[in-house]
Amino acid sequence: MCMFCDQEFTGNRSVLLNHMAREHAFNIGLPDNIVNCYEFLAVLQGKLDNLQCLYCEKVFRDKNTLKDHMRKKQHRRINAKNKEYDKFYIINYLEFGKSWEEVQSEDDRELLDNLEEDWSDWEEHPVCAVCLFCEQQSDTTERLYLHMQKSHGFHFPKIKSEHGLNFYQQVKLVNFIRREIHHCRCYNCQEKFESKGGLINHMEETKHIAFLPARSTWDQPQYYFPTYENDTLLCTLSDSEDAKAEDQSEEVPVVSEDISSLKALKQSSVLNQLLCKEKKNQEKF
Ligand SMILES: [Zn+2]
Ligand SMILES: [Zn+2]
Ligand SMILES: [Zn+2]
Ligand SMILES: [Zn+2]
Repeated sequence: MCMFCDQEFTGNRSVLLNHMAREHAFNIGLPDNIVNCYEFLAVLQGKLDNLQCLYCEKVFRDKNTLKDHMRKKQHRRINAKNKEYDKFYIINYLEFGKSWEEVQSEDDRELLDNLEEDWSDWEEHPVCAVCLFCEQQSDTTERLYLHMQKSHGFHFPKIKSEHGLNFYQQVKLVNFIRREIHHCRCYNCQEKFESKGGLINHMEETKHIAFLPARSTWDQPQYYFPTYENDTLLCTLSDSEDAKAEDQSEEVPVVSEDISSLKALKQSSVLNQLLCKEKKNQEKF
């Protein structure tokens, strides 16, 4: 059941998570990123039942005041500092001893806060995605893709179809690029720059912006996790038109060592075990 509108959902948890993200702008991360999703939602529901804001954790006198507060203050998100949530995120299992909050470095947070302030003017347009390479915002994905192509020479739809990227691979790619750009590092030659401006100049001049590095550098589970909270671009991604590419995507010609390391990673990944375990847990319901 949705925590915000009481609509009921059955079946795949991603349907509910998508509903909450789309209808209520509440995003706790990608379904694949979360373990024991139902337990997690129950914890959150418990907070709401106690009339507590999920983000600032203040307690309110009644449900409507709480709802108003969470909507107006844009507190429809979870408090990343709350360690209680850590166990629900796969990233904690992949990087032992490090919380997902620590994984996002401090300066990520700062930049993120600034971004959120900038976005406050945009309440009328909840779908407002930010360019991967500059501060440009667009209310439609098409316009943003056009901007990235014209201004930076990065042709996302073309890359998508050429590499046969499915939804999750696009998510990982976007998160990877955001992270590299945030660290002022060229994703092709790894050169580091003092400023984002310097980096983008380099990437445009050398055309390093236009093509992707080896798949193994970015097609990694840690990039399921957004570099920025509330990255609207992620919500607007869609499967590439020829969805059949999805099944073949692993067959896409990459350097052979990439494939083998990817397969090894998949086999050894705790992620798979966790997902299997979770499926079993869900069957008990
Ligand atoms: Zn709802
Ligand atoms: Zn609050
Ligand atoms: Zn731009
Ligand atoms: Zn470069």
